[in-house]
Amino acid sequence: MRSYVEVVNMTNEIQDLQAIYQEIDNEKDIISICSFCQNLKDTEGKWQEELHPFQIPPEILLSHGICPRCAKKYYPREYQRAISKGI
Ligand SMILES: [Zn+2]
Repeated sequence: MRSYVEVVNMTNEIQDLQAIYQEIDNEKDIISICSFCQNLKDTEGKWQEELHPFQIPPEILLSHGICPRCAKKYYPREYQRAISKGI
């Protein structure tokens, strides 16, 4: 199992790649989906519980991540460590 910091780093790398991809394909948006609870992070960076992946239009691309609630639940020590470091 990966640590929370590793997941955050991977998420940051994914977001960098997403930004590069968006520069290439400006007609499509990419939003994150939590790997644990399936909540979605909208294009403004807020995690939404109301949205379901099947409600996402086909022109939107999904990328896996982890929401703060699941990070706290599944990686409590790493979550607290990351919070104290301001990650
Ligand atoms: Zn979650």
